[in-house]
Amino acid sequence: MNRAKKKLRTLNASVRACTACELHESRTYTVFGRGRSNADLVILGEAPSTQDDVQGKPFVGRVGQELEHLMRLADVDRENVYLMNVVKCRPPSNRTPTADEVLNCRHFLVKQIAAISPVVIVTTGRVASQQLNENFGSLGALRGQRFAYRGIDVYPTYHPAYVLRAPDKRELVVKDLKQAWRRVERSYE
Ligand code: SF4
Repeated sequence: MNRAKKKLRTLNASVRACTACELHESRTYTVFGRGRSNADLVILGEAPSTQDDVQGKPFVGRVGQELEHLMRLADVDRENVYLMNVVKCRPPSNRTPTADEVLNCRHFLVKQIAAISPVVIVTTGRVASQQLNENFGSLGALRGQRFAYRGIDVYPTYHPAYVLRAPDKRELVVKDLKQAWRRVERSYE
C-alpha cells in the first residue's frame, strides 16, 4: 500500500467518527473520497448529494454520470483522478454548507489534499472554488482564473450539477478540464 493510501485510510477513519458539526446527525454515511490515492488530478465539489450520502461515495448518480461524461469529452485519464468534497456529510435538503460547517471540516480537506499531493485541483462550484483561494469573489469571476494552493494549481469551474441545469456551460467546463489535464501532462515533461 502506498503512503498516500495509508494516510487516506487513517483520515477516513477519523471522518467516519467525526461529530464536530451538526451535519453528523442527519448523515447516512460520511462521504470521504474515491479514486487513485496519489492521483495527479483532484476534482473538488462542495458537499455530498442525497445519493452520495446513501452510497457513501462522492459524485454518484446523475451528477456523477455528467462528471464522467465531461471528463471523457476532455480526454482526462480517469484512472489518474481523485474525487472529493469540501464537507464530508450531506447538509439537510442539499442546502449549501454554512461557513461554520466548512470551517469545522476544513482540517480534513487540508490533510486529504496533502496526502494525495496532486498536480492540479479542479474546484467545482462556488464553495469549493472559494475554499482554496483568498479571493471570495463569485464563481463567475473565479472561473477561468488560475490560482495556486500550497504549490498546487487550482482551476475553478462550474459544478456538474449546475451543468445539468445549464447545458450551455458544458463547453466551458470541458475547456477547463482540458486545460487542467494539459497542465498535468506538462508536469511529466
Ligand atoms: Fe465532521 Fe465534517 Fe461531518 Fe461536520 S461535515 S460532522 S466536521 S466530517
